Amino acid sequence: MVEVIVKELPERPRPGEKVQLPNGEFVRVRHVGIPWILPPKKVCNDPECPWHGHLSVRGQVFTVTVEKVYGRTATAIHEWLHYDPKYKRYERRRKKMHVRVPPCIDVKPGDIVYIGETRPLGKTVRHVIIGRMEDVTEVKSQVLRLEQQQ
Ligand SMILES: [Zn+2]
Repeated sequence: MVEVIVKELPERPRPGEKVQLPNGEFVRVRHVGIPWILPPKKVCNDPECPWHGHLSVRGQVFTVTVEKVYGRTATAIHEWLHYDPKYKRYERRRKKMHVRVPPCIDVKPGDIVYIGETRPLGKTVRHVIIGRMEDVTEVKSQVLRLEQQQ
């Protein structure tokens, strides 16, 4: 088991950039494939990190609320509206999910985070946190503004 090193950068790195860690190791910042979610300011050398390791993100992206964090895993609550065609109404649905927390993203209970699907990482863990909403909302609003101008 390699010791995980986390380095904080003064500025947010761009996807594709190479960053040197204090131990001399080079880490390439990847792009997870969602245009408005930018990499975090911190860089880590965890192989199971969507930004700096080789964990691929696929499937749907969910917005969830973190309930509890214990080490590398967190429990999160996903709430959504489901349409019932018979009664022509929406019903609220909620689901508790186990998600993987990369060492370069700091989360605390109550945070709203974006999660993406990955390969199974544990008995019940199939999703990974790709960013905190605070970190990426600004970028998303910029993208939406650009779309409106067109
Ligand atoms: Zn990382």
